[in-house]
Amino acid sequence: MKLLVHICCAICWAKTLAGAREEFGSDLEVMGLWYNPNIHPLLEYRKRMKAVSVYSERDPVTLHVIDEYGIAPFCATIHPNYEGPNRCRACYRMRLDKAARYCHDIGYTHFTTTMITSTHQDHDLIRELGEAAAHANGVKFLYRDYRAVEVEEKTLKGIYHQQYCGCVFSENERFRNTTKELYKGGKRDGES
Ligand code: SF4
Repeated sequence: MKLLVHICCAICWAKTLAGAREEFGSDLEVMGLWYNPNIHPLLEYRKRMKAVSVYSERDPVTLHVIDEYGIAPFCATIHPNYEGPNRCRACYRMRLDKAARYCHDIGYTHFTTTMITSTHQDHDLIRELGEAAAHANGVKFLYRDYRAVEVEEKTLKGIYHQQYCGCVFSENERFRNTTKELYKGGKRDGES
């Protein structure tokens, strides 16, 4: 099977590879696609992309990287659904459509997304939109529930693990009810 995998982050990429290798063994020909205009702000986007490249040094797989920090097109795409489930619907569709098109363009037969490993994502919606994108592009969407797949701890040692889904709205939802202090202040040299 020629499988293109849309990558949302390094941790989920490792889990998807483990699940697919376990299932398809030597029949698997796999390639990764980085395309995530939904990750904000810019430094968080760069951290997650860097984590994928660090992981790739440990587990080299061909990657196609679309390095577009996309807060503006992302907001234009989800507008006016900044709150609620339609935001994620538009966000999933944006990424899955791109993956399906690329899968077709490179002559691969199947595509999937590393989001199928996440307990925080809506699997029914991913499946619905993945299959629609596949149908529109003449390829197949491989849905699997890889939430329970485990990866050896040492494989992921030191790899950056994000604390929220991706967009600035999810960052707000994740932290707005915390009292987490990111900066406590302090005295500079010479101050009393
Ligand atoms: S919460 Fe996650 S899936 Fe939903 S719109 Fe934001 S980045 Fe996309």
